[in-house]
Amino acid sequence: MSRVFNFSAGPAMLPTAVLEQAQAEMLDWHGTGVSVMEMSHRGKEFMSIAEQTETDLRELLNIPNNYKVLFLQGGASTQFGMVPMNLLRDKHQADYFNTGIWSKKAIAEASKFCQVNIVSSSEANNFTTIAKADEWQFDPNAAYVHYTPNETINGLKFHGIPKVGDKTLVADMSSIILSKTFDISKFGLIYAGAQKNIGPAGLTIVIIREDLIGEAIPNIPTMSTYQAHAKADSMYNTPPTYAWYLAGLVFNRLKEFGGIEAMSERNKRKAKLLYSAIDDNDFYNNPVVRKYRSKMNVPFTLANSDLNKTFLEEAKKAGLINLAGHRSVGGMRASIYNAMPEEGLQALVDFMGDFATRKA
Ligand SMILES: *Cc1c(COP(=O)(O)O)cnc(C)c1O
Repeated sequence: MSRVFNFSAGPAMLPTAVLEQAQAEMLDWHGTGVSVMEMSHRGKEFMSIAEQTETDLRELLNIPNNYKVLFLQGGASTQFGMVPMNLLRDKHQADYFNTGIWSKKAIAEASKFCQVNIVSSSEANNFTTIAKADEWQFDPNAAYVHYTPNETINGLKFHGIPKVGDKTLVADMSSIILSKTFDISKFGLIYAGAQKNIGPAGLTIVIIREDLIGEAIPNIPTMSTYQAHAKADSMYNTPPTYAWYLAGLVFNRLKEFGGIEAMSERNKRKAKLLYSAIDDNDFYNNPVVRKYRSKMNVPFTLANSDLNKTFLEEAKKAGLINLAGHRSVGGMRASIYNAMPEEGLQALVDFMGDFATRKA
């Protein structure tokens, strides 16, 4: 068996130990004679998996009791619409930060339901920095404030949680959840597609404060209301059972590793190694202002873009795959989520140093 270092932005690599456990349990989960994929979602076996997964996530993130955790489908992109449909209530405005390509998608979707006020936009700076808090402009009538703590494509990350007074704060944590600690009580709603730092694609996690549930706009599909999912403990319809189980294996492993604080320390070391390799070598460049650099997604360019194809081909031969930047940004991008080991970063910076020496 040979496993490569996979720098994909998502679906991203999963811990090998998790895949091995899934493999060992594939045909016969805990003596039941069936795979988790073949179980009734309402049977006691799957219920035990579902409950343990939620318990572990609550423990890892320190989620207060007055929050519901929902295990949904549809990806983070479905949440772009569900958030306004459920949280606008009697209001007609919402505040959005525009810090990258995912923010823009969330804004486009919200604009179908309300007037979007842009609190701050990084677009004129090509999404390489975030304006200081004293330049932010909130709408006093906004129902909530939405932001993207980590912009997966642009490699741009907020420094700290924005202070929004008593307004409801909503965060798209798809590419940052579980990578560092957050005070969950500061948020009204958090959502994240699973395929970056949680588990396989197909599962979306929503963490919502209970008082925000139950006032969706009328006449929308039941599936688009948080209330239906919350009331049924995410079993209003058939949930993505296998992805839920795999997320549980990832959470269990993260607990064994020492939880989010230990993982966050490792993530800092990993990011430092890569940014140093970029900054210390004129051959490579990352355009993001240091304070706002992502620790999960690191875009970079080569001094000579004619060498991009060769870089990717040689990297692949060295067992380093999926380093091409997003089609809208170009260049390279290394996504270094929780599952990427430190050895992967070392192998990448060794390759980058060698490549630059040979080609510069
Ligand atoms: C990947 C990603 C999305 C899109 O997720 P889907 O699950 O594909 O809908 C949205 N927001 C952010 C920040 C992402 O990284």
